[in-house]
Amino acid sequence: MVHFVGAGPGAPELITLRGAALLETADQVIYAGSLVNPALLERCRADCRILNSAVMTLEEVIDAICAAEAQGRTTVRLHTGDPSVYGAVREQMDRLEELKIPYDVTPGVSSFCAAAAALRAEYTLPGISQTLILTRMEGRTPVPEREQLRSLAQHGSSMAVFLSVGMLTELQAELMKGAYTAETPAALVYKASWPEEMVVNCTVGTLAESAEKYGIRRTALVLVGEFLAGSRERSRLYDPAFTTGYRKGTDKT
Ligand code: SAH
Repeated sequence: MVHFVGAGPGAPELITLRGAALLETADQVIYAGSLVNPALLERCRADCRILNSAVMTLEEVIDAICAAEAQGRTTVRLHTGDPSVYGAVREQMDRLEELKIPYDVTPGVSSFCAAAAALRAEYTLPGISQTLILTRMEGRTPVPEREQLRSLAQHGSSMAVFLSVGMLTELQAELMKGAYTAETPAALVYKASWPEEMVVNCTVGTLAESAEKYGIRRTALVLVGEFLAGSRERSRLYDPAFTTGYRKGTDKT
């Protein structure tokens, strides 16, 4: 049996209780060594076989899983944040299905959630944006034409950009081809929830120079949108006038 587990964004206590229990009982753990906090591995049994997937190919990962399966042993495949976001998990699941190896998935706290926590921000502010776009710049991994940043940027929604701190000059230009301007609020969140976490508030026009100034080159998210400036509008949900399924308001409905 293989358990895909979201390790969370970095802080070892941000793994879920279910994820922690699976780590504690695993016979083998294959962790994404570039981003998973090694402190999480302290939960593993002393005799647990621990492999770092940062130096492995997909074939080697599958071989290690098959070797464990042949001995009736369980594997935890530990991915950073939540496995469903840039986790390269589907290709592993496809192989496991071909091999008839059973697996399940335990979600994790994605870094975009930890970045909002670091900023004390809410992506979905009334009157500002009710949409959050998770995306990335095109790098060695191609992005479909219809999802190019300049076209997603037409919406002016809240946006969290992964895997792109190495391309901030290009990112700024793409964002400004859409609805954002050089003055639109932006933030860089480096290693959210790690002890070395750093939050840099800036604007779309100053993303590249801010990263340069603070030496941010990797493991950071770029957040963009007016949500970073806050909102003066309050929610309907907690408005005394508003009737919900749980609370009678002073309105007529
Ligand atoms: N599955 C992960 C994302 C993996 S892609 C998740 O759910 O968060 C790796 C990218 O995620 C990094 O390049 C960076 O953009 C972002 N990232 C991962 N952990 C981060 C963290 N703690 N703080 C800021 N960005 C992070």
